Amino acid sequence: SDVLLSVQDLAVYFYSSGVVKAVNGVSFDLKQGETIGIVGESGSGKSVTSTAILGLIPSPPGKIERGSILFEGKELTKLSQAEMRKIRGNEISMIFQDPMTSLNPVFTVGNQIMEVIRLHQQLDKKAARERAIEMLKLVGIPEPEKRLEQYPHEFSGGMRQRVMIAIALACNPKLLIADEPTTALDVTVQAQILDLMKKLQDDLQTSIIMITHDLGVVWESCQKVLVMYAGNTVEYATVEDLYQNPLHPYTWGLLDSQIKSDTAGKLPSIPGNPPDLREDIAGCYFAPRCPYAKDKCLSERPPLVEAGPNHLVACHFQTADERLERKGGAAHE
Ligand code: SF4
Ligand code: MG
Repeated sequence: SDVLLSVQDLAVYFYSSGVVKAVNGVSFDLKQGETIGIVGESGSGKSVTSTAILGLIPSPPGKIERGSILFEGKELTKLSQAEMRKIRGNEISMIFQDPMTSLNPVFTVGNQIMEVIRLHQQLDKKAARERAIEMLKLVGIPEPEKRLEQYPHEFSGGMRQRVMIAIALACNPKLLIADEPTTALDVTVQAQILDLMKKLQDDLQTSIIMITHDLGVVWESCQKVLVMYAGNTVEYATVEDLYQNPLHPYTWGLLDSQIKSDTAGKLPSIPGNPPDLREDIAGCYFAPRCPYAKDKCLSERPPLVEAGPNHLVACHFQTADERLERKGGAAHE
């Protein structure tokens, strides 16, 4: 099949003061050329999930407790550090929220791109420089020859993020993990960067995991979406399905708060706080914040079940009647 990455029942725990079950049963598939958004509040486990895929969980205190990460048929959880280093930056690369912390302020941008290129490809200096110029052009940086000689502080936030994308794509990775890549940017620049990523993804057929707290970003750039809450998958769907037929009360909350934040310009928020992941929680993790919680929700964990083609949800009440009942009394819609 054309599945590039298959994550099955991934669980990542941190053993510090008690056991923090940061990721506790996440599953999804990613096909070649597809973009999946992983969305959730901070602390939902989205960054930990991507860190695990990159083989960068600090151990100890972190540990991949169970589950599988298959990338092109290779089980990443079983690879040595050295084997993982070969995959990272080569076949899987990443970009982060704040390009300033990823770029070294004392070296020119050209030096940094060329260093990455030469680390992974057998190119001499001249060829690496040409490749660097090509990459800067690709990400829409004008006057690339001149820009190569400049330092990170001479670039705007949006231009720095373009540089990071250039570095991440320089080795033709099959998978790009983007963790909140546009969060630090203003709205106009954010849209430009998302457009750029979409265009590059079309051209290069790179698969992308887009980590974000912003459903708007998912809508702009992804085909599939995984909604995480407290380290668990609560809903998985195509983006169209998620918007047209969202099934989980937490997703409804996210969508509602998104609409409110769009109109009021405030940060989205759902009343209440995520649970303490050190506690043993028997029932639904969302129950303390869920307006529809019933007794069963406090005692029994809702399994992730198929609600339609390519649509999974973890909520006890999923018959058509139950959904109608909830929507009748809900602020949703
Ligand atoms: Fe709400 Fe219960 Fe569904 Fe959890 S299982 S989301 S508490 S209705
Ligand atoms: Mg994060």
